[in-house]
Order: sequence, then structure tokens, then C-alpha cells
Amino acid sequence: MPYFYFDQWYFLLVVPAMILGLIAQVRVKSAYSRWSGVRVSTGLTGTDAARIVLQRGGVRDVQVTSVGGQLTDHYDPAKKSLALSEGVYGAASVAAVGIAAHEAGHALQHAEGYFPLKIRTAIIPLTRFGSAAAPFVLLAGVLFSFEPLVLAGILCFSLAALFQLVTLPVEFNASRRALTALEESGVIRTEEERTGVKRVLSAAAMTYVAALISSLATILRLLLLFTNRRR
Ligand SMILES: [Zn+2]
Repeated sequence: MPYFYFDQWYFLLVVPAMILGLIAQVRVKSAYSRWSGVRVSTGLTGTDAARIVLQRGGVRDVQVTSVGGQLTDHYDPAKKSLALSEGVYGAASVAAVGIAAHEAGHALQHAEGYFPLKIRTAIIPLTRFGSAAAPFVLLAGVLFSFEPLVLAGILCFSLAALFQLVTLPVEFNASRRALTALEESGVIRTEEERTGVKRVLSAAAMTYVAALISSLATILRLLLLFTNRRR
């Protein structure tokens, strides 16, 4: 029953992936705090930037609202509301306009039925089920030494990884839209502002990459333990 112990694969695969995830988190925080301190020359706020990006994309039925917390910004497709955090909503910083434009990018994706976003939305129930069931299915499989159940557990873990995989094009596309819209509409004008927006958005994107790598490491570890056990 090696599945729930700290085996060699745990240290060779899972731990490095966890460290990568921590580094990604730290980089987001530091990029955010660095570029929150740099004011955009146009003096436009996160809310202004979001409205401009929405307007450019021909989206008129999305509300821009404020939400508590830090880096809690998100677009809610059900409510058609774009929630911006305190440090973004009324802030005229490089980080604020970058993040706001990125979230507006998600609203544009939703409005035009961007395909990867549709897939992601469609598989959410499946991946929620998979993530919740995975540890129990795996545990049962190991306890009863029933291999098909062990494999089913690993498959459940894979559903979560699938969600993270589909998230990548959605996130990268939203950031690309954000940068283009901010430049073309003149919300950002200098090379420094462009660099800042890129740094903040790519740091955020790396957390999604790290999450996928972490899931893949877990799956690979389980598969290695499973095949070793059969020998
Ligand atoms: Zn996003």
C-alpha cells in the first residue's frame, strides 16, 4: 500500500512541482506589488480600462463591480459581471489596468463564444466530481487491492488536470486581448507600461502552468507506483 506514503516519486515529482507552484505565487505577488506602485500616464483606472476593453469589443451588457480582497478579480459569466478587487477597481496603476483588461478579455471571450472557454465551462461539473471523488476511489482501490478501482482513481485525478489544461489557452488568450486593447486604445502609452502589464499578466499565467504541472506530477507518481506494484 504505497500510495499514501512519502515514496521516492513523491520527493522526485510532487515536491518539485509544489516548489514551482510556490515560486509562481511569490512572483505574482511581487509583480503585482511592484507594478501597483507605478501610475499609468493616462491616469485611467482599472474600471476605466475594463470599460474601454468591453466597449471596443462591442460588449454592453456586462457590469463592472468591486469585490473585496487582493487579486480576487474575476469575470462571472452567469451574472455577466466583472468583479474588480480594491487595488484594481479605482486604482490608476499599471497592474490595475492590466488585470482589469485581462478580466474584460474573459468577458469578450464569453460574448463571442470563444471555443476553449466553452469547453472549460462544459467540463466543470465533471472535473469537480473527479477532484472530489479521486482520493476516495483511490483509497478504496488500494484497501481492497482492486486494480480497476485504483486506475479509476487515477482517471479521476486526470479530470482535474484536463480542466487545468483547457484553462491555459483561455488565460493566454485573455491576456493577449488585454495587451492589444490597452495599446490600441491608448490606455497605456509608454514602453515601461507595456513591460509592466506583460510582467503582471505573464506572472499570473505561470500560476496556471504550475497548477497543471503539479497535477501531472501527481498523476505520473500514481501511475509509477501502480506499475511498480504490479511487478
Ligand atoms: Zn484569467
